[in-house]
Amino acid sequence: MKQHFDSLDTTLLHGGISEDAATGAVNIPIYQTSTFHQQELGKHKGYEYSRTGNPTRHALETLIAELEGGTAGFAFSSGMAATTTVLSLFKTGDEILISSNVYGGTFRVLDKVFNQFGITYRIIDTLDLSLLKKSFTPNVKAILIESPANPLMTVTDIAAVSKIVKAKGALVIVDNTFMTPYLQRPLALGADIVLHSATKYLGGHSDLVAGLAVVKNSLLANRLAFLQNATGGVLAPFDSFLLIRGIKTLGVRLSRHNENALAIALFLKSHHAVESVYYPGLKDDPGYKTQKKQASGAGGMISFKLRKEFDVRVFFKSLKLVALAESLGGVESLICHPATMTHASIPYEIRQKVGITDNLIRLSVGIEHKNEIIKDLAQAFERSEKTK
Ligand SMILES: *Cc1c(COP(=O)(O)O)cnc(C)c1O
Repeated sequence: MKQHFDSLDTTLLHGGISEDAATGAVNIPIYQTSTFHQQELGKHKGYEYSRTGNPTRHALETLIAELEGGTAGFAFSSGMAATTTVLSLFKTGDEILISSNVYGGTFRVLDKVFNQFGITYRIIDTLDLSLLKKSFTPNVKAILIESPANPLMTVTDIAAVSKIVKAKGALVIVDNTFMTPYLQRPLALGADIVLHSATKYLGGHSDLVAGLAVVKNSLLANRLAFLQNATGGVLAPFDSFLLIRGIKTLGVRLSRHNENALAIALFLKSHHAVESVYYPGLKDDPGYKTQKKQASGAGGMISFKLRKEFDVRVFFKSLKLVALAESLGGVESLICHPATMTHASIPYEIRQKVGITDNLIRLSVGIEHKNEIIKDLAQAFERSEKTK
């Protein structure tokens, strides 16, 4: 899809189909209909049935394709429905490589669902490029990565990985949920497919569950259009409308998320309750350089580990402003405990191996005033110090 505007800031508002062709409405209406009149046999106005295509969803799909610089976009009822549909491109005997920190649900669907169909996965360290080269067998058909990855914010060099994987004839799939196209555009870095849990930053208001996929070429576009219609996990017209509405403010929201997160990462780093901070916007973070190269910001996600002198349970209980909740990417600050929440579906041994220890805390920094978020964290740290 050709981008019509020079800047993403403008594309967020005016990209895709931003005006209703029938009425001129500045917002694409919610086409709450399951079916469409056909003028005669085999003749219709572009839509037949809303699983196959719906004008509100189509506007969203065009918009995300334009934002990610892809050929076509697809909207699903959740991020996991998007992931599942993309994984349905593969068949028995195929193997998928995944980076060691991926979203728990992505791991679970591979481990518990696709495994049953003989589509296997292997966890690899995508920071070790020579290991990646050696990991290839003829069965490896794709790699699925996140960068920065959930929850330790490890940064994978998307261009370097893509180069290696493409040379082997396999597909590169990037879950771009944490960055969004506003900060990082994986297709331009060499990826073939981009996935989103639009529930997070794209929606941005913690009021909907949605998923998106964008593909680079028309062969993949045709295959994914077929799978979307065949398996049917499509996004409803109302949710498509909400998502378009959320995307309009993505730029201004992310600017604030970036600014707040950096301030809070620096605060955490200086606090005696904190053992380590994971945020690729910090100059001494191992991912800083690569992040700077491939993205235009470090985003709003921070993870950190509490020192053993502080009680994790009491810390969470003491927070007043920051909400203990699953999910991320909303305007409000959300905090979670990966080991028992988002990453609980990953077995204990694997969690230890990849660093998801019980003192790890993941913070989705919202757009409240940063001083107020810091104040809340500070008082919770104070309360959670164990008495000597
Ligand atoms: C939340 C999330 C998902 C799953 O998306 P849902 O919308 O919850 O189905 C996938 N990947 C990442 C990185 C996520 O944060």
